[in-house]
This record gives sequence, structure tokens and C-alpha cells, in this order.
Amino acid sequence: MKTIGVLTSGGDAPGMNAAIRAVVRTGIYNQVRILGIKQGYNGLINGNIEEMNLSSVADIIHRGGTILRTARCDEFATDDGLNKALNIIEVFNIDGLIVLGGDGSFKGAKTLSDKGIPTIGIPCTIDNDMGYTDYTIGFYTAVETVVDAISKIRDTSSSHGRANIVEVMGRHCGDIALYAGLAGGAESIIVPEENTDIDAVCRKLIQGRNRGKLHSIIVLSEGVGNAYEMAKEIEEKTSAETRVTILGHIQRGGTPTSFDRIMASQMGYRAVELLLEGKAGRAVGVRQNQIIDLDFDEALSQKRVFRKDMYEIARILSI
Ligand code: ATP
Repeated sequence: MKTIGVLTSGGDAPGMNAAIRAVVRTGIYNQVRILGIKQGYNGLINGNIEEMNLSSVADIIHRGGTILRTARCDEFATDDGLNKALNIIEVFNIDGLIVLGGDGSFKGAKTLSDKGIPTIGIPCTIDNDMGYTDYTIGFYTAVETVVDAISKIRDTSSSHGRANIVEVMGRHCGDIALYAGLAGGAESIIVPEENTDIDAVCRKLIQGRNRGKLHSIIVLSEGVGNAYEMAKEIEEKTSAETRVTILGHIQRGGTPTSFDRIMASQMGYRAVELLLEGKAGRAVGVRQNQIIDLDFDEALSQKRVFRKDMYEIARILSI
């Protein structure tokens, strides 16, 4: 293993830079050449590749985004695109590849692995939607961003006696809403995994108001319903002025939390170590605070389990 390539793919996630830093520094420490592949699988198809050194990753551990940039690349998912990537891997003498990204990026990594390219995946997505790992890099930073927003919205919500719907990312996975809702003390949390009765949301709002509560925060996962229609319905049923805040892409950026940086450093280190041990076709993850690695097929087939226990605690604590 003389040369390892590293790329970031799919949606960016805070902590990707900390993981890139860990890969580069662990590689160089072990006398391995590290090539940075730009803009995800696009760079692998086009040969947009640069050798990295110790200073290429200086001063990035605290930065959001990814210095390698990221992209979605439909061409890579075609036979033609895959062949182009395999040619570039040969031309640049890449002996192993580390892919940072979500589910889709891992499927791409698996196609390379199936063609005999030693490949390791590091889970990076703010959604926390990968079943084989307790957490993905970027998730806790996104939760912090949402909790910070909830605290600010709560101030104005209390001052005016309004209800506020805070729409967060997570089209198919309610973890951002659940964790941020629990940490932010939201009155209601609406996620794709659980059916929510709007009348129950309204009842809670009215009961809270009757005992003097001034604010009401409803955290809504995007895609579960239309936030503005929901606000209208709540207003009609409770007479509480109801405002909507859609947090959008601010959840993707920002300085990664310590937790994300620590996970990223451990996972980046482990990914290089696995390649040096001759292991390949594996996804790195974390379970019960231990760094683990699983075969791509096994990792990709694990169903995500929604934390119903936490959802129930959030429900009870918000009575
Ligand atoms: P996020 O969770 O943030 O959306 P992701 O990694 O799941 O990240 P995708 O857009 O699904 O993001 O995938 C990123 C890239 O991975 C795609 O643009 C494509 O290049 C590659 N990819 C996705 N699915 C496949 C597949 N089945 N086969 C080959 N390559 C794939």
C-alpha cells in the first residue's frame, strides 16, 4: 500500500475536514503517499487529483465543509463512468481508496471494491441515517445548530406568546428533529418514523397555555408535512399565532463539535490502518463508543433503528 486516494462525496458534513486530516497525517506517518481527489467521484473520473502533504491539512480541523469539495456524480453510477474511474486509479497508481460520504457514496465505493480496488468508507452525513453505525460524522454538529436556533426562537416565542414550527433536515430520518427536540425542550417533535396527530400537538399547546406557558416549539422533520399548512391548522384550532422557521442549509455548515472531530479523527486513522492491514471493502463506524468496521454489504443492509425510547422520553418531558 504505497498510495492512498481520499475523496468526499454526497452532501457535505461538518467534520469531513477533520477526517481528511486524520487520513492524510496517518498515511504520511506510515510513509504512504496520499492523493486528494477533488469533487467526489467527478475527480476520480476526470483525474482532478493532487498529492497532499502535512501542511495541506493544517488549520482545517475546526472548519466545516470539505477542502476536497464534494459533488453528486451521476456518471460514476454508469458502466462508462466506472471504467473511467478505474483507468484513473491505474494511471495515478492508487493502491487504496478512502471514501467519505453517506449511503449513496458507500454504494459507489462498493462498486469499486467489487472491481478489486481496496476501498474503505467513513460515514459522513448530518442525517445520521446509516443503520450500521450509532452516529455519522456531522450529525451532532447539525443537532447543535438546531438546538442553538431553538433557544433563540424560544426567546421570541415566549416574548410574543407565539407557537413556532422549526423545520429541520431529515427527509427520511427524524434523528436531527428527535435529538435537537429533546435537547431543546421542544413541546412536540414530528418525525417520519412516527405518526403524529395534529390534534395532540394542539392539545399540548392549549394545556401549556392554560398553565401559563408562553412558548410552544414544534420541531418538524422536512418532508413529513408542509410547515406552513401545519401552522395554519394549528392557528385555526388553537388561536395561537404560529410562525414557521425553516432552518435549511445552515444545518450543513459551521465548526464541527468536539464529538464530531473526535469521531472523525478516530475513523480517519482507522480507515488508513485497515488498508495497511490489508483489509478492504469495509465501512468504518461507531457502536457503543467503540470504532468498528463491517463489510460494505453488511453495513449497507443494516436497517436503521429509530430511538423510540428517546422519542417517548421527549414526549413525557414535554407534558
Ligand atoms: P447524503 O447522505 O449526504 O445525501 P450520499 O453519499 O448518500 O450523501 P448520494 O447523492 O446518494 O449522497 O451519492 C453520492 C454519489 O455516490 C452519487 O452522486 C454517485 O456518484 C455515487 N453513487 C450513489 N449511488 C450509487 C450506486 N448505486 N452506484 C454507484 N455510485 C453511486
